[in-house]
Amino acid sequence: MTSSLLPTYARAPIAFEKGEGAWLTATTGELYLDFGGGIAVASLGYSHPHLIKTLHEQGDKLWHTSNLFQIPQAERLAERLCAASFADYAFFTNSGAEALEGVIKTARKYHSVSGNPHKTHMITFQGAFHGRTLATIAAAGNEKYLDGFEPRLPGFHNVAFGDLDAVKAALSPEIGAILIEPIQGEGGIRVAPAQFLKALRALCDEHGLLLLFDEVQSGVGRSGKLFAYELSGVMPDVMAIAKGIGGGFPLGAFLATKEAAKGMTVGTHGTTYGGNPLATSIGNAVLDIVLEPGFLAQVTAMGELLQQKLHALQDRYPGIILEVRGEGLMRGLKVAPPVADFTTAARAQKLLVIPAGDNVARLLPPLIIGAEEIEEAVLRLDAACQTLASPQLSGAAE
Ligand SMILES: *Cc1c(COP(=O)(O)O)cnc(C)c1O
Repeated sequence: MTSSLLPTYARAPIAFEKGEGAWLTATTGELYLDFGGGIAVASLGYSHPHLIKTLHEQGDKLWHTSNLFQIPQAERLAERLCAASFADYAFFTNSGAEALEGVIKTARKYHSVSGNPHKTHMITFQGAFHGRTLATIAAAGNEKYLDGFEPRLPGFHNVAFGDLDAVKAALSPEIGAILIEPIQGEGGIRVAPAQFLKALRALCDEHGLLLLFDEVQSGVGRSGKLFAYELSGVMPDVMAIAKGIGGGFPLGAFLATKEAAKGMTVGTHGTTYGGNPLATSIGNAVLDIVLEPGFLAQVTAMGELLQQKLHALQDRYPGIILEVRGEGLMRGLKVAPPVADFTTAARAQKLLVIPAGDNVARLLPPLIIGAEEIEEAVLRLDAACQTLASPQLSGAAE
C-alpha cells in the first residue's frame, strides 16, 4: 500500500473506525479485544460517556487560549495532581517526550540556580524509553534510536537497570540527577525493585541529586496505584506523566516539588498548546473516574486476576511463555518465539497486545476492564499459543 505518511512505522494492515470500552471495530467490521489501549493511552477504554460528555461540553465552549492567560481547567487539574502526589507544581505538555524535556530542563536549572552549574549530567538506565526527541533519545541511550541522529546531546550516563554498584561507579561531580522509570514499559515491563529505588533515593539525598521518575506509561492508575512510585513508597523530586492522563487526548505533564522547581521562574519554559482548556478538561474528566473511591482497588484486583490467569497460561505453554511480569494492569509476557510472531498470532485471534523490548508482549488493557474480558483475552492468548506450539494449525503465518 502506498502512503504519504512518512514510513517510520511498520503498521499492521488494519484500521479501526470505532471503539467501545475495551473493544475496537475494524473497517472490515471485525471486532478486536484491545489489550494494548493505544499503548497505555486509552485508560478509560473507548467512548467513555464521561469523556465524551466533557469533550462535547468544553468543545462547544472554548478549545484554546494560550498560556498568556489564566486557564481554570489547568489550574484545577494541576491542583488535583499535586494534592494526589508528592508534587507542588505541574506543567502541562502535549506528549510524554515533551514532559521529559521539562523534567531534564528542571533538573539542569535547579543546579544552575543552586550554585552548581557544572551538575548538568544525569544517570539513566539501559532498557529505558523516554521519547523520541533529541534529549530523550540521548537520555535513554538506545543505539537503535540514536543511530544517524548525531551529534548526541551530551550528559547522560546509561547504566544497567537495577545495578546499584554501576550507579555508584557512575557518580561524579558533574552528575546532578538520576532518571528512571519505576516500571520500564518499552524496555519489557521491567519493575524496578523497591529496594533499588530506595537506594537511589538515599544516594540522591546524600549527594544533593534530584531523583527523576518517568511515569509516562506507569502513571495514572496503570500500576493499581495512582502513580507506580507509591508501590515502593519512594518519592521523586520531579516526574513526567502523559499517556493515560488524557485518555486518548494528547496531554502530558511534569510534576515537581517546590524545591526542585525553584529555578523554573517566569520566562524559563513554555509551550503554546500545553494545558489548553480542552486538553485539561479531559484530563480532569479522566481523574474524576480514576480517583472515584474503589477504582484503583478494582484495577489492582483485575491486575491480580490477569496475573493469575497468565501464570496458568505459562503452566500450559512453558515452551512459549517464559515469564510473567508487571504490576496492576501493566503486564508483560516474556515469550520464546520472536515477540512479533506472538503479537501477530494474538491478532489472528482478534486480540491486540503490544510488543516491547526484551522479547516481551505487553498487556495494557483499559483500566475499566472486567473479569469476563480478562477471561476472554486469556482464552484468545491460549488459542494463539496453540497455533504457535503447532505451527501447522496456524493459518496466520503472515
Ligand atoms: C511513551 C513514553 C514516553 C514518550 O511519550 P510520547 O508521548 O510518545 O512522547 C516517554 N517515557 C515513557 C516511559 C513512555 O512509555
